[in-house]
Amino acid sequence: MLVRTRFAPSPTGYLHIGGLRTALYSWLFARKNHGQFILRIEDTDQKRETEGACKVIYDTLNLTGLTYDEGPDIGGAFGPYIQSERKEIYLEYAKKLIEKGAAYYCFCTKERLDSLREGRKDGNTAYDKHCLNLPKEEVERLLKEGVPYVIRQNIPNEGVYTYKDEVYGEVSVPLADLDDNILIKSDGFPTYNLANVIDDHLMAITHVIRGVEYLSSTPKYNLIYDALEWPKPMYIHLPPVMRDKNNKLSKRHGDASFKDFLDKGYLKEAIINYIALLGWSSGDEQEFFTLDELVEKFSISGLNRSPAIFDIDKLKWMNAQYIRQLPPVEFLRLSTPYYVKVLPHNRFNFSLISRLIQPRLETMTEIYDKLEFLMEFSEYDMELFVSKKMKTTPKDCLPFLTSSLKVLEKLNDYSEEGIKDVLLKLAEELGIKSGKLLGPLRTAVTGVPVTPGGAIEVICLLGKEESLRRLKISIDLLKKYLSTGEDK
Ligand code: GLU
Repeated sequence: MLVRTRFAPSPTGYLHIGGLRTALYSWLFARKNHGQFILRIEDTDQKRETEGACKVIYDTLNLTGLTYDEGPDIGGAFGPYIQSERKEIYLEYAKKLIEKGAAYYCFCTKERLDSLREGRKDGNTAYDKHCLNLPKEEVERLLKEGVPYVIRQNIPNEGVYTYKDEVYGEVSVPLADLDDNILIKSDGFPTYNLANVIDDHLMAITHVIRGVEYLSSTPKYNLIYDALEWPKPMYIHLPPVMRDKNNKLSKRHGDASFKDFLDKGYLKEAIINYIALLGWSSGDEQEFFTLDELVEKFSISGLNRSPAIFDIDKLKWMNAQYIRQLPPVEFLRLSTPYYVKVLPHNRFNFSLISRLIQPRLETMTEIYDKLEFLMEFSEYDMELFVSKKMKTTPKDCLPFLTSSLKVLEKLNDYSEEGIKDVLLKLAEELGIKSGKLLGPLRTAVTGVPVTPGGAIEVICLLGKEESLRRLKISIDLLKKYLSTGEDK
């Protein structure tokens, strides 16, 4: 059997992280089984879809490497792959269902449906099958007169429908719990209830992989397969992705879209790796996977039934590992857009910045914080010159800084090597350990307690003019501070 899976998102303008996980698992299952992965856009709900909303989906799948074999933008033998372009097909099958007694025209007005609901005390909102019993001639007359109608599924009132889900096992649903849902709306568009079945069948989908929210309505879809005498696909329903124990990850909380995570500085590889583990485990200790490794290891038996909690700290940790493992040129390529946003062009050595910050980031957007000391230098706390480790006080530091200023003024080679040479020589002349000199010097040219890199790298980055300017300011600040009290 040729395995064919599909990803069938609605074009909402963003791709939910849970949706991306569904796409990932469908893609993995297809690739693992040397099958095909199809993209179908389910847009029958929306009045008008913007092209942009579909593009978000195409771009995300291509960016993450979840390439599809057939889809709206690339075509394929089973197209069209956008449901709004398949309108006529659904109507044809809905009519077949009517012929077989599995569906019926319904002419009920909104008013009747409202009063039906209101008249019920038990909160039951199910349709009462009123139009199922209309005489055939009456139906034909109403259709001829052009009275607006919908087509509803005729679901038996009694019995239990049982089917097998590959993750959740045997699922049984009493048919009385299922409403006679609308299959074709009054605008002629199908609902998901009908369209998913028709499309999965016509597109020769063998395995339906989707969220668990469809688990209990799948019997309805199966009744349609049965009525049309079509073979049913295998079902693989996936546990939900939760923000915490009680809440789903949602767009509303700004924590759900793939793009949000990219914008927050997560690498696509880390996101994919992390979401692969949300509901699936390889059965061994391995946590880091490339897409190829996932293809190799993926299996339905590794899927979990219990809801997966999206642990942002875990993702952050994983992202940091991914950032650290990037080859330096790749990190430079990815970080440069962040640099050019905040740093004046051509003044800073981006390779050196990259070398300093790459090991210190959890997310790429932290680059901005790490670069702040390059952009800003203002009055700061002189207590920063107190070092318990070096046993130095602000007073001790002043001569270190003034002698550093002298040698740095004379220096012309502001390469790391050049700076290192003169400063280490100076420490020797002063008879102190290099750290005792470099620590205060780093503070003096940055004014902050923590920077990526020490004095030598920072001075090299700032260049001669800016380093000397800052050093002079710091010497003045320190003098002023020392002049105001004793024993500092
Ligand atoms: N359009 C549906 C959704 O976005 C797809 C469900 C399915 O995969 O069948 O939830």
